[in-house]
Amino acid sequence: MLGQMMPTQLTITAIMRHALRHHGDREIVSVVADAPLFRTTYRDVFRRASMLAHALADAGVSAGERVATLAWNDHRHLEIYYASSCAGMVLHTLNPRLFPEQIAWIVNHAEDRCLFVDPAILPLAEALAPRLPSVRHWIVLTDTANMPDTPLPGAVSYEAFIEGRAADYDWPDLHEDTACSICYTSGTTGDPKGVVYSHRSTVLHAMAACMADVMGLTQRDTVLPVVPMFHANAWGVPYAAPMVGAKLVMPGPKLADGEFLHRLMESEKVTLSLGVPTIWMALLQYLEAAGKTLTSLQRTIVGGAACPPAIMQAFRDRHGVATHHAWGMTETSPLGTFNSLKQGMDALPEPDQDDIRARQGRGIFGVELKIVGDDGAELPWDGKAFGTLKVRGPWVCSGYFRLDAGTSHDTEGWFDTGDVANIDPDGYIQITDRTKDVIKSGGEWISSIELENTAVAHADVAEAAVIGVAHERWTERPLLLIVPKPGKTVDGEGLRRWFRGKVADWWIPDDVLVVDELPHTATGKLNKLALREAYADHKLPGSDPS
Ligand code: AMP
Repeated sequence: MLGQMMPTQLTITAIMRHALRHHGDREIVSVVADAPLFRTTYRDVFRRASMLAHALADAGVSAGERVATLAWNDHRHLEIYYASSCAGMVLHTLNPRLFPEQIAWIVNHAEDRCLFVDPAILPLAEALAPRLPSVRHWIVLTDTANMPDTPLPGAVSYEAFIEGRAADYDWPDLHEDTACSICYTSGTTGDPKGVVYSHRSTVLHAMAACMADVMGLTQRDTVLPVVPMFHANAWGVPYAAPMVGAKLVMPGPKLADGEFLHRLMESEKVTLSLGVPTIWMALLQYLEAAGKTLTSLQRTIVGGAACPPAIMQAFRDRHGVATHHAWGMTETSPLGTFNSLKQGMDALPEPDQDDIRARQGRGIFGVELKIVGDDGAELPWDGKAFGTLKVRGPWVCSGYFRLDAGTSHDTEGWFDTGDVANIDPDGYIQITDRTKDVIKSGGEWISSIELENTAVAHADVAEAAVIGVAHERWTERPLLLIVPKPGKTVDGEGLRRWFRGKVADWWIPDDVLVVDELPHTATGKLNKLALREAYADHKLPGSDPS
């Protein structure tokens, strides 16, 4: 017997229509080069998305073709999100921080038809253009008055591109399984892989993001996505915010500028902000140095890399802001787990609550999780056993764009995340490493993330990275690299003593190197591959000379 409910399709167009009807007046504040604090509304953004859809159709871009962006978080980027996907085209966000060769490879692999580029990223686009034969249209994200001179063939300003078009578009009735966007994984090794999201997966993910025990996004929120719109669709915020009618503050390119973020948060009365740990480190350092506080921010969501508990404590103790840890991947749309306390946990002593909050959270409804050992057998949720984390669900990828099935999915459809985790009896996961970052010492595993968190808890340490380096007797031993806080000096031996009693003695790094900065990947994670290469020949004290 079948249910008798309407087969209404879950599409991004439905989010747009809902926001137009219910939240049309809600404000969007956008930082763009030609207007430092541009104010608009959902109504206007979606009206302009219609104009853009006409312009794209008139330019000959057809359903299923890829529409690429090299852009920051601003209102025009949001218009491209909706115009392309709702017209049946496929939005393709490119990460401008990747190596130019990687960007060229990705554009050619996706066969992007047109490319929207921010004026600040124009030199990169110009250098790449001769190698991108599929791109037929170049649109610069600015107005006619500010249109720079560019050798890009037929380049036109965004405002000129959409000018004079009708402000209503006859959006097609799309099947919910239609592709809406594509995002390539940053992949530190091998070629990048394209993850193709569908309208259905995107809508379900946005609804899940809004759940009270997840982002808990409401119409009364003002949300500032510091996470870029090219990093797994800014974690779904461009869909979740219009779904509930939250005010949206789009910070443009200055994502790692603590002073700028603080000013924006205060002037726009931001209640919720999302980003990777390095962003929060920059903001907290600025606030500490400038003696400033946050007066409207209520909660931050941190993901993309493990958040040191010291960051969460600084937000809570100095600014009264709650930090929620989330875990996910480009392949999981990206939300997979979210950390909110369970009933009764509020009453636990603060250190116990801190221990729970440091974990990456519990599976969100829709995402099944399990950890497995080397033999593939499922491991218990006892908070001790750790193994490969596998996930399954309607917003987890089932394959990669134009790639034959590989080893990432097993016969039961579980996706191998490449992360190593344990799960405690309450269901909170803890990511201990990427599989390839785990340090194998004498047959046992050492968690680099736990060592980094312990180092960053030291008052004089700004950032830390731990890698395994070869050791004759133990196979690998941990090497700690740290960046001291401005004006502080850190002595390696003293820091090694700091670890005593905080981690098992045999986990304590064999050596500590003080460096000016640590390398990061294009999505703001510590670049462990670069560090392993740079320190491959590092001789640890006491290791046998060879
Ligand atoms: P990406 O696809 O670039 O978003 O990278 C996904 C990877 O980032 C995951 O597989 C994890 O290794 C890492 N990651 C994401 N969130 C967290 C987190 N909260 N804690 C630790 N690692 C994380």
